[in-house]
Amino acid sequence: MKSHAKAVVIGGGVVGCSVLYHLAKAGWTDVMLIERSELTSGSSWHAAGGFHTLNGDPNVAKLQAYTVQLYKELEEISGQSCSLHLTGGVMLADTPERMDFLRLAHAKGRYLSMDTELITPSEAKAMFPLMDETNFVGAMWDPVEGHLDPSGTTHAYAKAAKTLGAEIVLRNPVIELAQEADGTWNVVTKNGTVKAEHVVNCGGLWAREVGRMVGVELPLLAMEHMYLLTEPMPEVEEFNARTGREMVGVLDFKGEIYTRQERNGVLLGTYEKACKPWSPVNTPWDFGHELLQPDLDRIAPSLEIGFKHFPGIEKAGIKQIINGPFTFAPDGNPLVGPVQGLTNFWCACAVMAGFSQGGGVGLALSNWMVNGDPGFDVWGMDVARFGEWASLRYTNAKVRENYSRRFSIRFPNEELPAARPAQTTPLYDVMVRDNKAVMGDSWGLETPLWFAPKGTEAKDVVSFHRSNDFEHIGAEVRATRERVGVTEIANFAKYEVAGTGAEEFLNRLMTNRMPKTGRIVLTPMLNEFGKLIGDFTIAKADDDRFMVWGSSAAQKYHMRWFEKHLPNDRSVRIIRFDQTLVGLSIAGPRSRDLLQKLVDVDVSNAAFKFMDFREMAVAGAPCMVNRISYTGDLGYEIWMEPAYQRLVYEAIKREGAEFGIVDFGMRALLSMRLEKNFPTWFRELRPIYGPFEGAMDRFIKLEKNDFIGREAAAKEQADGSKLRRVSFTVDALDADVTGDEPIWAKVNGQDFGTVGEPHGYGAPRFDADGKDVRGSQAATDASAVRGIHDGEWSVVGWVTSGGYAHFVEKSMAQGYVPAALSEDASDGMFEIEILGHRRPARIAVEPPFDPLGEKMRG
Ligand SMILES: Cc1cc2nc3c(=O)[nH]c(=O)nc-3n(C[C@H](O)[C@H](O)[C@H](O)COP(=O)(O)OP(=O)(O)OC[C@H]3O[C@@H](n4cnc5c(N)ncnc54)[C@H](O)[C@@H]3O)c2cc1C
Repeated sequence: MKSHAKAVVIGGGVVGCSVLYHLAKAGWTDVMLIERSELTSGSSWHAAGGFHTLNGDPNVAKLQAYTVQLYKELEEISGQSCSLHLTGGVMLADTPERMDFLRLAHAKGRYLSMDTELITPSEAKAMFPLMDETNFVGAMWDPVEGHLDPSGTTHAYAKAAKTLGAEIVLRNPVIELAQEADGTWNVVTKNGTVKAEHVVNCGGLWAREVGRMVGVELPLLAMEHMYLLTEPMPEVEEFNARTGREMVGVLDFKGEIYTRQERNGVLLGTYEKACKPWSPVNTPWDFGHELLQPDLDRIAPSLEIGFKHFPGIEKAGIKQIINGPFTFAPDGNPLVGPVQGLTNFWCACAVMAGFSQGGGVGLALSNWMVNGDPGFDVWGMDVARFGEWASLRYTNAKVRENYSRRFSIRFPNEELPAARPAQTTPLYDVMVRDNKAVMGDSWGLETPLWFAPKGTEAKDVVSFHRSNDFEHIGAEVRATRERVGVTEIANFAKYEVAGTGAEEFLNRLMTNRMPKTGRIVLTPMLNEFGKLIGDFTIAKADDDRFMVWGSSAAQKYHMRWFEKHLPNDRSVRIIRFDQTLVGLSIAGPRSRDLLQKLVDVDVSNAAFKFMDFREMAVAGAPCMVNRISYTGDLGYEIWMEPAYQRLVYEAIKREGAEFGIVDFGMRALLSMRLEKNFPTWFRELRPIYGPFEGAMDRFIKLEKNDFIGREAAAKEQADGSKLRRVSFTVDALDADVTGDEPIWAKVNGQDFGTVGEPHGYGAPRFDADGKDVRGSQAATDASAVRGIHDGEWSVVGWVTSGGYAHFVEKSMAQGYVPAALSEDASDGMFEIEILGHRRPARIAVEPPFDPLGEKMRG
């Protein structure tokens, strides 16, 4: 065993081997994988080996597509067969709601260049004859699905990595990790210590234990999972003989079941409701190649549905039941990337679908380690997406919830109940008990979504269509716009950046100039590639002291970036307040009159202007007040310590009564931002878009100084962006966009090269030989070929978010279209596909509400 390596990968399951291969392929050949036992000694060896591309997050779907396309390359390099069976698969919907879900998934596929197709139950039966089609209302066909040999595939990665120079050490557990002052990791193993610049945790079933070696509790949990294998079935043999091919894979939402052909019989697995965590606190180190005791009673309810839906299977004898553990994060997606607070400690764990995702995870992580950027939008699997609230017990509750609804539909307005409430503000009981708020989870914090008036139930009716909250949100919006409203904004990220180097630090990170004392600016933040990685409100509170507000969900993501760029001379200190600073926002034409009643200073328009910041006592409580509002109306954000929040809220309600004050929730706030064309972080603004594509031009001051990403942004501006963010009004019926819908335009076959490559700079693209041709002419040509056309109409872009703008009474959507089309506001030019129906849409160049911004400035 070598004593030094550029990087040590801990764990030889499919994920560790993929990471090793990708690191070596990216040029880091001085890399080493250390495995406790033999390769595949965790969950990899007993996997059912199924793979597919579909994922609720389009960016994760892209990485899954990459994984599937990689297997041929792996077989060629390694000479090891993966036993690939690319059969294709069908998803079966038994209710109209589940069919709506498939329509949505199919529509998303249009801009992801996925070849899915909506089919009838009878057409599905022709591919999987064991089903009773009368149980279903429709189905979706996906050609890129199949199964493989899990062990062969893991060894193929390992052999390919070794071919490129990587080293693999077996039967040698890593027992300790310690970092020296210069950042070098001592990887202490049973057989000696290896010094490494980087360590990657691919510990699979033991990833939690490996995390604990560096003081990190990773939010993941192993669950027991069962699948059964039947004896040979004559129906299967007959189908194979008749068609000359294998039966397709099937996914049945109702039973949470997947099934497919395995030899001459079938394999059927379920995600049962009565699911069972395995080793919830500590994973035993002596666990290895054994299986767990099967428990047919636990999966009996799912099997009952399965046997009804697939009567052919019930008749077959069960040959074997496999029960094995594998790990999940609270939302079911992997945990990938550098761990905030540590240097050069990476993880690639909680990969619950290693054979769909392992390749993409390896590629993204190796890009990140070698180039400093994952090269894709990996937010959906970034380890930074979970906060401190994602504790062992939180994870246990959430993983069980996620497992038991693995194939269930998540409606756009559906809030999941497990592990809640986690964090609450002092107003929680007032909101829920007195105000009848329907609460949502905002990065672990309970946040009011909307308020149920007297006589109505405070509960969401989940739906893809407009629902029971519609009229109440409308009332909250109208009352705010016409009078005044108050809402909780504790769910923003809040930081203080202070010290003699604070201004220089922020100027280096942000694209906008820093404000003068007492003033506020809005500013994006870019990475070195000139892509959007943040969007902040910054106030200069004092000499050398800035208050920074951003997206709550991105707190660890942003702290990781801030820490990476902190100067070594301790001239900058950053405090992340989280819930030690909470807030209330008042907005609407009477909000100034209300604020004036609560304070002892002059807050007239002359004394307290738009984009001013002041520290002042509000209702006697020490507060910071920003004259700014995401509603786009006259409004104020008021920030205070939690101990004062109730006092300030009660005063606002008491003094606001004479103006007819209402409470409004997050949904009303998001509705109001839509009619102002304001973007949101992680929907409109993401690390796949440039600042000019994102229509953030006025916040990019290329001339101010050499900020991170300036050169790339200047190039984007000089070359002209390919895409542009726009707002639309949509002639919707009873459903609004929710995000990821395709945008059609009447372009008579003209190709803009924007679809098929929607995720911009990093999306993988392969030529016929399996070569990665990202960014090349061949990639552009491939996109053109894969574009979706219908006569004069083509898919040219995609929706990022939208909904109903209640004050202007319009359905609205935001999204990206080719820059050349972004100012075409004519009728009949665009259509947006909502739940399978293409609806006319028009670009709203100016915001429909207060286009000149007179209300917020006045
Ligand atoms: C019954 C079942 C069916 C499944 N079906 C599918 C399917 O159809 N499709 C699919 O994609 N996925 C499936 N999976 C999930 C799949 O198995 C996992 O996604 C995958 O195995 C995760 O791989 P991994 O490399 O992250 O972890 P693991 O396979 O657990 O590998 C981790 C490795 O790290 C080693 N290790 C840990 N700690 C140390 C240490 N301190 N020192 C050295 N080595 C260490 C372990 O020995 C182990 O070999 C299934 C799983 C089960 C149990």
